[in-house]
Amino acid sequence: MSDIIHLLPDHIANQIAAGEVVQRPASVVKELLENALDAGSTSVRLIVKDAGKTSIQVIDDGIGMTETDARMAFERHATSKIRKAEDLFSIKTMGFRGEALASIAAIAHVELITRQASEELATRLVMEGSVSVLQEKTQAFEGTSITVKNLFYNVPARRKFLKSDAVELKHITEEFNRVALANPQIHFSLFHNGNEIFHLPKGTLKQRVVSVFGKPYAEKLVAVQENAEIVSISGFVGKADAAKKSQTEQYIFVNQRFIKSHYLNHAIRAAYEEIISSDLYPVYFLFLEIDPSTIDVNVHPTKTEIKFEEERLLYNYLKVAIKHSLGQYTLGAMIDFSQNPAFSSFINPSSKSSFYGKPDSISGHRQTNAEGWQQIYKGLTD
Ligand code: ADP
Ligand code: MG
Repeated sequence: MSDIIHLLPDHIANQIAAGEVVQRPASVVKELLENALDAGSTSVRLIVKDAGKTSIQVIDDGIGMTETDARMAFERHATSKIRKAEDLFSIKTMGFRGEALASIAAIAHVELITRQASEELATRLVMEGSVSVLQEKTQAFEGTSITVKNLFYNVPARRKFLKSDAVELKHITEEFNRVALANPQIHFSLFHNGNEIFHLPKGTLKQRVVSVFGKPYAEKLVAVQENAEIVSISGFVGKADAAKKSQTEQYIFVNQRFIKSHYLNHAIRAAYEEIISSDLYPVYFLFLEIDPSTIDVNVHPTKTEIKFEEERLLYNYLKVAIKHSLGQYTLGAMIDFSQNPAFSSFINPSSKSSFYGKPDSISGHRQTNAEGWQQIYKGLTD
């Protein structure tokens, strides 16, 4: 009998990998935004058309790529972020699978324009279904622009299952907000069909929360700041009266990356046990810093789930930290904490990272963001 096993050609392998990495336009947004952050950008623009179905563009002012790297970036398992398997456990950057661009290029039309500071000219590369169809030199600002057009053009079954524009835009906004909340020191904007729906100047975490979710949040947050051996916790939790009927404004970040964890949600909810009724959910924006070697972020292809080595300790610690902050706030409200220096660190944590600095003015908020939400919720049925 003749042999029947053969290797799949790269473009098919990439398409299969794409099935894991790219479920919808929002997945592309996530990967492109994370790459922009990894490139050390200070300003990132996301420009989408028709909820990403027609095009998704991310423009950053990061380090850019050399001509060779620009080509290499689209190869499968091409990454500048890890060299050996052990690196996986100490990795601090966002993406580390070296698969995102290869996968995206397998199922879309991609244009990359990139320039490093030391170069006079930028490289422009056009890819169609894993194949490079054009490479040339061009003029461009320092940094990188990646445009992904006609997502799933060659996977009609996938394209057919995309939801309405309203729903897909909601997913995109969610990814955008996660990244924007985790990086208040970076300027972000989001344009949809020519309208700027989010404009988020750099600022403190509190300013960022207020810019994204609206002015009322300026009065609703209590600072959390606790350091222990296994974890440092910082950020904000909502006061009891800010609790909502849905779980929408619950954000946990581990080492700057948004994660989902029912277990940790439960720990936080437990801290509110006696102060909010059982049908309400607290809001929170919490940042956990944990030694990367004690967590495994590679458990899920889209990397929002995570395994912790010391889960129970973490649970208790989180619960206690939040109870503590809520308690300090309640106490502070009674004795006018602004007069008492002992509490000032809770209102104004001068924490290790500079961007948690002073949650002072909230002038960064612009009307466009509120209009942005209206646009996002308009016609939203799912
Ligand atoms: P990964 O991010 O896991 O390394 P990707 O496929 O997302 O894999 O990207 C491949 C490589 O392309 C990255 O490691 C990085 O070197 C380069 N790259 C991608 N996007 C950018 C960007 N916006 N700026 C600079 N380099 C980038
Ligand atoms: Mg990446």
